[in-house]
Amino acid sequence: MQMGTNQPKIGTYNNSVVLSAIQSSDGISRVEIAERSGLTAQTVSVIVRRLVADGLVREEGTIPSAIGKPRTALRVVAEAGYSIGIHFDPIEVSCVLVDLAGRPVARSSKRITANLDPESLVASTARVAQQLVKRSRIDSSAVLGLGAACPGPIDQTQGLVISPPRRDRWTEVPLKKLLEEQTGLPVIIDNDATAAAIGERWAGIGRSVPNFAYLYLGTGIGGGVFLANQVYRGASLNAAEFGHIVVEPNGPVCYCGNRGCLEAMCKPASLVESVRSQLEAGQSSSLCDAYARDPATLTAAAIGSAAAAGDPVAREVVDRAADYLADAAVVIANVLDVELLVVGGHSLRDVGEIYRERIAGALTRLPLARKVHTVGVALSRLTEDAAAIGAASLVFHQAYAPSIADLTTDVARQAE
Ligand SMILES: [Zn+2]
Repeated sequence: MQMGTNQPKIGTYNNSVVLSAIQSSDGISRVEIAERSGLTAQTVSVIVRRLVADGLVREEGTIPSAIGKPRTALRVVAEAGYSIGIHFDPIEVSCVLVDLAGRPVARSSKRITANLDPESLVASTARVAQQLVKRSRIDSSAVLGLGAACPGPIDQTQGLVISPPRRDRWTEVPLKKLLEEQTGLPVIIDNDATAAAIGERWAGIGRSVPNFAYLYLGTGIGGGVFLANQVYRGASLNAAEFGHIVVEPNGPVCYCGNRGCLEAMCKPASLVESVRSQLEAGQSSSLCDAYARDPATLTAAAIGSAAAAGDPVAREVVDRAADYLADAAVVIANVLDVELLVVGGHSLRDVGEIYRERIAGALTRLPLARKVHTVGVALSRLTEDAAAIGAASLVFHQAYAPSIADLTTDVARQAE
């Protein structure tokens, strides 16, 4: 939990500190908020009164106390606001409507061809988003905004998708502007892996962890980082490109220019390629018959379920990928000194536990700081919608998360 400040004129920041403490707990008392934030009991009391009056927070139930009478529990009013999250993955577009507690209320996803032109894809997705709101029977004025997540690099300030891999027609696309025109909502865009990390902060395992890294396994591999309760974005908002940690110096050339990047070794298409070459070489596998009938049945999902069922060829390829992921996890732990590594994304289907075990083993043995503290590993519970839920939470995060940047702006204003 973040520390508040009792200086005057820093109300916005303190409001966010209190709201974020309530949002990230399952019921918290005023006394606990004061203890954890360093704010005075009186400041917390004033802010809570305002949040209750604004309809963002309600009193519900009690929390037993060691001394004195039970304390009133505070919770966010989930129906106080909604946001729409869209994940533009190269092979699939997912759309979710999420409430203020971070819970998905409605969802939809569809497969797409990689080279669909941006304008028509945005137009059809905006229609899907509007249908979700209609279907959920919520008041459309309660929708605060729309978050869009897509593979980086992006220019968040300009709202541009720069040149995502595997998408030739998506160079310098003004995604924010297109979505705003189509939906009439304020739009915020972000890298899909950063969005997934923010979603984890808002609605997942990262809710109460000050320092965590998020390893995102989608069509590509990316990451996001929370340090001291703040999302870390880097100079151009493209930090934490974990997919480009080199894990095999003599490996294949990656589109970034390096050799043997984590993404080049472990992305779904690379697993398919490794298994295909083994099947072509005559290795015996439960995947052989289907592959002989139709090579297109050999997908990363089929390999994952074969590996989980013990098929030796699939398992060997998945185990090798797990070892590369574990090597990268140790680098991440050494560089960032985080308490937790969350692994998420839609490529985890069936193989999540295999990956988690290998990564946990390496993180127990190898990071330099292991004698000072252990680094936990957890699979995201937001499953396949991690990036879309993350995109939706960008809206809440921008509106409500306490940001050091806001605090320094307030302090600068105060000094003027
Ligand atoms: Zn690379």
